[in-house]
Amino acid sequence: MKFNHAESFFSAAQQGQPLVIAGPCSAETEEQVLQTARALKQQNIHLFRAGIWKPRTRPGSFEGVGSQGLAWLNRVKRELGMKVSTEVATARHVEEALKQEIDVLWIGARTTVNPFAVQEIADALQGVHVPVMVKNPVNPDLALWIGAIERIYHAGVTDLVAIHRGFSSYQKTKYRNVPVWQIPIELKARYQSLPLIVDPSHIGGRRELIFPVSQKALDLGYDGVMIETHPTPDLALSDAAQQVTPARLAEILGQLQVRKTRY
Ligand code: PEP
Ligand code: MN
Repeated sequence: MKFNHAESFFSAAQQGQPLVIAGPCSAETEEQVLQTARALKQQNIHLFRAGIWKPRTRPGSFEGVGSQGLAWLNRVKRELGMKVSTEVATARHVEEALKQEIDVLWIGARTTVNPFAVQEIADALQGVHVPVMVKNPVNPDLALWIGAIERIYHAGVTDLVAIHRGFSSYQKTKYRNVPVWQIPIELKARYQSLPLIVDPSHIGGRRELIFPVSQKALDLGYDGVMIETHPTPDLALSDAAQQVTPARLAEILGQLQVRKTRY
């Protein structure tokens, strides 16, 4: 596979610095989305994220605001001039997101595990020019991650990015999802032109781990970070313990050291 980011948000944003993706785990209200985006706009983050359709492990939790949230992201794009992204898990999600001109789509960890679901998304992406970020599957399976990337690539999408969000484990560890760094390192060794981003929020599961996990990833030569950011993290409707305020994000970004030698 040969990845091409020539016209991507990715190459334009990067310029030797790590790419920064930030925004709430979930879009909750129009005001929360706009308020977060305004604060992040001041920090020149490269891509705004917010989940609209939320895959929850068990029923009964907040499952996202659905399609109406796409219009809020579209407002962030039009009014603040930011690039916006959301998670897609079905062909319908892809179609709706593209109708609302979402700039970048991502495939979540619970979707990457399912070849049928990924293929359905790939089919919906045929002939479409939109960058796609593929999170690792929930289980530590490199082939499944590569397979999902290949399915999207074969649909003609070469502007692809991999996101490392850690892996489920039944063992109790300090992480919510254990990083198993060898897996993304092996992915990157195999596909050097594939950008690799760390998601320290889902790896750590708590905000204290965002800095050390991000720094470790940058030390390994990762190309960027995706950090969940919420105006009032403790009140968030999903992933409250791992979200940070935009002010805290600025501190974290200010403290991260970027090594000159990468990989
Ligand atoms: C998310 O990014 O909010 C999310 C649901 O992530 P993951 O697919 O990594 O669990
Ligand atoms: Mn989340």
